[in-house]
Amino acid sequence: MAQSLPFFQLGVDATERYPAQFISDWRALPEKPGIVVITDNAEQDALLEAMHRSQRFWQWRIYVSQPSALSMALSDGAHIPDDLESVWQDHLQYLAAIKNGESEPLLAWLWLDDGRELQPVRDASSRGIYRYPLLEAYNEERATPYHALLQLTQRGYLVEGELVDKVRFCPSCQSGHLNYVETCPHCQGLDIRHEHSLHCFTCGHVADQEAFTRSGKLVCPNCLTQLRHIGVDYDRPLETYVCQSCKHRFSEAQTKARCLSCDTFSAPNALIARQIYRYDTGIQTASLLRNGQTFQIPALSLNHLVDAPFLLSLLPWLNKLARRHQQQHLILALHLPGLESYGQKHGELKTLSLTEHLSERLNGLLRDTDLCCQYTPDTLLLLMPQTPQAALGRLQEKITELASLIEVDDFTLQVYAWTLPDELMTDDAANWLVMKMSGRVDD
Ligand SMILES: [Zn+2]
Ligand SMILES: [Zn+2]
Ligand SMILES: [Zn+2]
Repeated sequence: MAQSLPFFQLGVDATERYPAQFISDWRALPEKPGIVVITDNAEQDALLEAMHRSQRFWQWRIYVSQPSALSMALSDGAHIPDDLESVWQDHLQYLAAIKNGESEPLLAWLWLDDGRELQPVRDASSRGIYRYPLLEAYNEERATPYHALLQLTQRGYLVEGELVDKVRFCPSCQSGHLNYVETCPHCQGLDIRHEHSLHCFTCGHVADQEAFTRSGKLVCPNCLTQLRHIGVDYDRPLETYVCQSCKHRFSEAQTKARCLSCDTFSAPNALIARQIYRYDTGIQTASLLRNGQTFQIPALSLNHLVDAPFLLSLLPWLNKLARRHQQQHLILALHLPGLESYGQKHGELKTLSLTEHLSERLNGLLRDTDLCCQYTPDTLLLLMPQTPQAALGRLQEKITELASLIEVDDFTLQVYAWTLPDELMTDDAANWLVMKMSGRVDD
């Protein structure tokens, strides 16, 4: 391995096993990004958590010599690639493309390597049963990570990967420690017993079979009738359970979940069901990191990129507004169908810098009140409120001019324009866009 690599071994004993610089305390690692391998540390998980919590190692590659409970979730694993040199070069290239890693260290760490995922780790001692150690390290203490995960997924920053498990939680305290018990449907009592009971046809008395048995014969303890033939004198009722608390008889016990953390009883359908996924970074993360955007929903007056869910929530509202106040809003869709093949040929980084170049030029064209959104990897949507269709000609001229400035082979730019109000627009703006894009009305 080349000496030029910023490669460090972090260990408790001073055995230099790797062609790396030996360091005994992680706080002594330099500020500049590098590669570190942690060797033989019994506190490895705590060490990894501390390093991520310091918020400065998102730029690093972190390996371990031995796997530990959290090493898959918090490091690049126990396998140091043979071609570390070229892995590091790729890493640096991606790193250079990130504008705001400081403000989004978690997403930046995940985005820097395809192999990294936000991984759940099962932890029976935790109320949530599963934890996301990486999320916890960057987002401080959170009671449950699900709200954050939902937000990040809904806004396209994370996408669900493999489904790891399904867990039900107490609706009262969100604990996953539940015990399922059969209870009396009348009084919710726990003490219910299975019974072999009989039902006397003469007087209607129901009791346990034992109460009917007298010197080898079946005799009703209530009316003293001798029961000879089943179906004629007596039968066996369907209710085969009896509650020891309220004496209620029933055929089906009610299953309840008793929370082991707060003692609340809940019906199974009242429990909060959650699916535990691994997560990858979504398309919005790439644009977030590369454009230096922040998480906040931008104010409408800003000439900013917004995320797709925000735009989708805005469109139906604008449509109603347009109808009520006789306004016209213009939506331009810039479709770059060659982008995918370009991406395959030239790689993600080059493709992203092409779209960035494009965005930069588009920004010059947008007014303060316009919004821009990378709706899909190859579709940009520009929303221009209060713009009549008549303005389109001039805009289109500028866009054509802009497209010609981008000197890339096998790359085309198609522009579509739609106006609001549109009678086909419902509250489901995503569906409307699908319709519009498949219709592809060229202007
Ligand atoms: Zn009962
Ligand atoms: Zn009887
Ligand atoms: Zn509870």
